[in-house]
Amino acid sequence: MIAYVTDAPDIRIPANLLPTDGRFGSGPSKIRPEAVAALAESASTYLGTSHRQKTVKSVVGSLRAGLRDLFSLPEGYEVVLGNGGTTCFWDAATFCLVERKSQHLSFGEFSSKFAAAAAAAPHLDDPEVITSPAGTHPTAVARDDVDLYALTHNETSTGVMMPITRPAGASGLVAVDATSGAGGLPVDAADVDAYYFAPQKCFASDGGLWVAVLSPAALERVAALKASGRWVPAFLDLSIAIDNSRLDQTYNTPALATLYLFDQQVRWMNEQGGLAFTTERCARSAEVLYTWAESSDFATPFVANPEERSRVVGTVDLADGVDAKAVAATLRANGIVDTEPYRKLGRNQLRIAMFPAVEPDDVAALCACITHVVGALAS
Ligand SMILES: *Cc1c(COP(=O)(O)O)cnc(C)c1O
Repeated sequence: MIAYVTDAPDIRIPANLLPTDGRFGSGPSKIRPEAVAALAESASTYLGTSHRQKTVKSVVGSLRAGLRDLFSLPEGYEVVLGNGGTTCFWDAATFCLVERKSQHLSFGEFSSKFAAAAAAAPHLDDPEVITSPAGTHPTAVARDDVDLYALTHNETSTGVMMPITRPAGASGLVAVDATSGAGGLPVDAADVDAYYFAPQKCFASDGGLWVAVLSPAALERVAALKASGRWVPAFLDLSIAIDNSRLDQTYNTPALATLYLFDQQVRWMNEQGGLAFTTERCARSAEVLYTWAESSDFATPFVANPEERSRVVGTVDLADGVDAKAVAATLRANGIVDTEPYRKLGRNQLRIAMFPAVEPDDVAALCACITHVVGALAS
């Protein structure tokens, strides 16, 4: 089971310290074994069958209804989905949600990418991009000429979360990249017009799909831009995605296993108590991680402001004398994977996903394992 790599220091973590599941990656992330077992159970009647028939469409229908429940969507909001993941949705948004000019809060790798997509779109005005240093988040500012505010619920590259509210006095749409936050952080649908994400993070499935919760105002914007005659590539056309979603389908062939695992996770979340359950569970994991870091003499939470420390993706800096690369490699050699920091951040850091599928007790076990490894590396 455990893959030993040759470049890691030869340290064996005692079995009694190990977490029950060693997956702490920020995406693709831990998938609950129960969901995989359910997929295996249904495999012979579900996998390899038409996505235009009832078997698959009922899973998509269950998924859409489950997300509606999870987010307590008001009347008129719709759950829309398509292929291509969040990165694809950014391009779709530049065609179908931004009328002329967007404002972007850019505070890490992911939030900067939508800003770049909007800046590159020849049919849009240059976006306003408000930045802040890594480890913090900026605040949106209402402007008369901005018709879409692009926020990010959780900046996965730095471990910063931000509360989602409509910028005071703003009349534009509020579009939120919630790829790593959706399902693990609180949100009030009334504060968002497009709350979009992909299933490989809190929703414990695979990548390749995007989902967007769209408000009546966002649905109207899509229809109005379509009617305006703007050219939109069909694959990025949200009006086509909306029409297909209403029929519990996608425009082109989706990954059936991804849909199934996604639906399993949403069912599990709702059975356990919905967003109240998931947000409390993630908060508990985060409390364990940051309390441990603050009380240790070699680890410090990277995000200085406790209010901005993510409850779904934790980043912890290690002291100068402790090599985070060696720690992550040793953990990996012991079956605890994907604690490496976001590459381009370039810090002596560990990054730990605390999505709803992760057991808070496993986060505590991971902390004990890190302490053990750091001690062993020093001796
Ligand atoms: C993972 C992630 C993305 C990229 O998602 P893809 O489905 O791989 O395109 C975008 N934004 C955030 C905040 C993410 O965490």
